[in-house]
Amino acid sequence: MVERYGNLINDDWVMTDSLNINVNPSDTNDTIGEYARASEADVHTAIAAARQAFTSWSHTAPLVRHDILARASAEIAQRKQELGELLSREEGKTLVEGVGEVTRAAQVLLFMAGEALRIDGDRIAGLQAGSDAEVTREPLGVIGVITPWNFPIAIPAWKIGAALAYGNCVVFKPAELVPGSAWELVSILRRAGLPPGVLNLVMGSGRQIGAVLTAHKDVDAISFTGSVPTGRSIAAASMAGPTMKRLQLEMGGKNPLVVLDDADLDVAVECAVNGAFYSTGQRCTASSRFIVTNGIHDRFVQAVVDRLDALQIGHALDPRSHIGPVVDQSQLDTNLKYLEIGQQENADLRWGGQRLDRATPGFYLQPALFTEVQPSMRIAREEIFGPIAAVLRVDSYEEALAVANDTEFGLSSGICTSSLKYATHFKRHSEAGIVKVNQGTSGLDFHLPFGGRKASSYGPREQGRYAAEFYTTVKTAYTSAGIL
Ligand code: ADP
Repeated sequence: MVERYGNLINDDWVMTDSLNINVNPSDTNDTIGEYARASEADVHTAIAAARQAFTSWSHTAPLVRHDILARASAEIAQRKQELGELLSREEGKTLVEGVGEVTRAAQVLLFMAGEALRIDGDRIAGLQAGSDAEVTREPLGVIGVITPWNFPIAIPAWKIGAALAYGNCVVFKPAELVPGSAWELVSILRRAGLPPGVLNLVMGSGRQIGAVLTAHKDVDAISFTGSVPTGRSIAAASMAGPTMKRLQLEMGGKNPLVVLDDADLDVAVECAVNGAFYSTGQRCTASSRFIVTNGIHDRFVQAVVDRLDALQIGHALDPRSHIGPVVDQSQLDTNLKYLEIGQQENADLRWGGQRLDRATPGFYLQPALFTEVQPSMRIAREEIFGPIAAVLRVDSYEEALAVANDTEFGLSSGICTSSLKYATHFKRHSEAGIVKVNQGTSGLDFHLPFGGRKASSYGPREQGRYAAEFYTTVKTAYTSAGIL
């Protein structure tokens, strides 16, 4: 018997007739659960509940908010194996990656619990004699949180954790492919002691109910992670309504990893293989362009191919698997389309790219490595979001930097080199929000700001103490003694 899960609206679990069937991409015969699709009316009720709860929640003692987030963090950490298995079952990343992501969610909630106690401000002398000014941070109000499928628990945790730490209320709309982890996160936070209405869960289609969030006058801000086209339509809808909402949009990437002649080959190959192919390449920080100087190019390509030969692609819960399946048929079709485009563009498909059959029916694809890719080719310019990487051959560091920056995106970038000169220059001149030296472009710390430049991102950074820039609004208060 498949379990059914409702939406959380004003502290009630609400069922609907319309059910979204959550299927395992490693085994499409495995149904994880049936999740209620919220109606538009449910979303309106959730927003009204959040608005009402905000009056008292925004004034709760910071210690209360701290304790709730810390309790939720502890439950997640304690159940990391079970929650990691659920996550890997619904998203398809390997169990090691699933448990790792759940651990990250626990850590980020604990960090945000601490942030509730560290809300800072300024006290500044006013211009007039006897006038003092204070600058304080206050919560914004009701935040719409809209999340993608590739990090089913970590992204919701770092957005919702920050929103709640600073005293906001939330209406949370997860991606339709991964409602299981979202449901667990919300039920854990509720059990940890959130008052009614402070956190609401509305599952369902982005176009339908996500759009209610972006248009609603009582939603003050939207924090979104997903694709560029959706981000753009959310921005248009959010600005067109009666209130112009604060926006935080994290979108695509086409992240470069530069490998110079003087790089340590083992380090470069590790950064490349992990950054491009693990998590099935489904990370917005994944490396999708390896920009490699001539002197190391052939050795680098051969070493990457040798590593690819040894990788096991299989069921996410099989401990032997290094890489799980693609998340669904539609993403698989996109990957296969780009494999064709790359070959039509005359790039050399040096390794992989075959559809794979396994013991269970799933969306299995061999990772793929294209070489002799030109910067103008579509596979070097467009985000694919799959385990497909392009090697671009360059003559010098200067050319590598120019190619790395020749993209509409700017999320993360990396360089492998043993030269302080090039590392320092690259950190300063790379047009990305995150730069890594001798580290993969993925794999980031939760206490540091996360976000990109150019078409990758819009609005203030996420995570770390920089999250306050988005989730709070500043008040300037003037005080005089009142004695003339
Ligand atoms: P992904 O490839 O991760 O599905 P999308 O950008 O399509 O990327 O979706 C990210 C999130 O945005 C999902 O939760 C999705 O349901 C939601 N979404 C999609 N379209 C809209 C929209 N028009 N308004 C609000 N949310 C949307």
